[in-house]
Amino acid sequence: MKQQQPLHIYNSLSRKKELFKPLNPNHVGMYVCGPTVYGDSHLGHARPAITFDLVFRYLQHIGYKVRYVRNITDVGHLENDADHGEDKIAKKARLEVLEPMEIVQRYTIGYHKNMDALNVLRPSIEPHASGHIIEQIEMVKKIIEKGYAYVSNGSVYFDVEKYDRNFDYGVLSGRKIDELISNTRELSGQSEKRNSFDFAIWKKAESGHIMRWPSPWSDGFPGWHMECSAMGYKYLGETFDIHGGGMDLLFPHHESEIAQSTIANEKSPVRYWMHNNMVTINGKKMGKSLGNAVSLDDFFTGNHPLLEKAYTPMTIRFFILQAQYRSTLDFSNEALVAAEKGLKRLMEANDTLQKLTATPNAPNQEIDRLLKACYEAMNDDFNSPIVIANLFEAAHIINAVKDGHTAINFEELELLKKLFQVFVFEILGLQESQKSDDKSVVDGLLETIIQLRQEARARKDFATSDVIRDKLQALKIVLKDGKDGTTWTLN
Ligand code: ZN
Repeated sequence: MKQQQPLHIYNSLSRKKELFKPLNPNHVGMYVCGPTVYGDSHLGHARPAITFDLVFRYLQHIGYKVRYVRNITDVGHLENDADHGEDKIAKKARLEVLEPMEIVQRYTIGYHKNMDALNVLRPSIEPHASGHIIEQIEMVKKIIEKGYAYVSNGSVYFDVEKYDRNFDYGVLSGRKIDELISNTRELSGQSEKRNSFDFAIWKKAESGHIMRWPSPWSDGFPGWHMECSAMGYKYLGETFDIHGGGMDLLFPHHESEIAQSTIANEKSPVRYWMHNNMVTINGKKMGKSLGNAVSLDDFFTGNHPLLEKAYTPMTIRFFILQAQYRSTLDFSNEALVAAEKGLKRLMEANDTLQKLTATPNAPNQEIDRLLKACYEAMNDDFNSPIVIANLFEAAHIINAVKDGHTAINFEELELLKKLFQVFVFEILGLQESQKSDDKSVVDGLLETIIQLRQEARARKDFATSDVIRDKLQALKIVLKDGKDGTTWTLN
């Protein structure tokens, strides 16, 4: 183990930081709820992906073999996360006149493309819910056999009240069943439940519902919470180390996962529950219905009314890592511009570092203290902003050595290179955006072209300015006219 002190993780189950002790001393099993693939990926997808990428990278760095399972939800996730309403994917398929699996394929490819651009490592296994219907049916059967679910009109519901009598429904979220009773209203279509807070583990498909499979109870589909219980069990066992996801999944999704698995396998499924906080936009919750969901492609092209310019995938990654994963993260153009500058400073320091020369008998720069502080921060519940603060301190030393204000000896120079290699690239997963020589040539050429176009516009020669814009667009270079002049992005 390379860590200099033990790793502590905040466990949502105990609501405190705990010493991390995996079931097996060398292996870690980690399950993270992946996307429901019915639309473009946005910042809300990037945050959990990058959070658990950081965890995945760090656990491997300190010597664990990690089996990382992140699912693709392609069936059973109904509108408003409820037990009624249309399936999110089926709805999109209906609106676009496509087969549901075409929707799944399109947005899974889009998700992978965005995650690759953000340098998010692929998980070890990426199972689809629709590929695990048999496993889910088997789990539903077990829950019925043990007396904690009932069949009603072809659907199967989990008996929350009975479960709560013998276990604790609310162990994760802290909610009490009495509150659930007063907070849930009877809605149409819920009358087949004994209690309004019971949740479907199998749903009978209405006529016209496309995604359906045969089962002992009806032609239908599994309830949304069932997939993660079934696939977590299949790939990681009855009990595994880490289960992650966004805080919005804590209730009812993860609470219900615990209940289902506790009955089916007679064990609590997860030892450490981890939840990343949400992303807000200018202080407001982000959501499709709120009209402020900016897709990752929008960020990369700058093509959205809320964006003043385009931001590279690495700027987005750095922006997310600048906050500890349990704090809220507010998006704004100012914050992203600041992240862009910070990232540039770090990357320039790395370029400078590679060219520095050592001086014998130079003063002690305490690089070992910085390295230790970075490990301490990571061991304290993956505190990436503290890591970044220490890297900036290192950048400050690098620049001081370059400018001749101080000097560094050979051992410390090597340690500084190691600090950057390990923390900037391996653990934070940041990348140099482009080879700097190519980039400066391209930048220079485009600046010239943009200037020619502006001159054409100034003399009202719009034919020429449009030709320039269209020819660039054919090369997937998009121009964006803003208040600080024209910027360009590669689409
Ligand atoms: Zn899940």
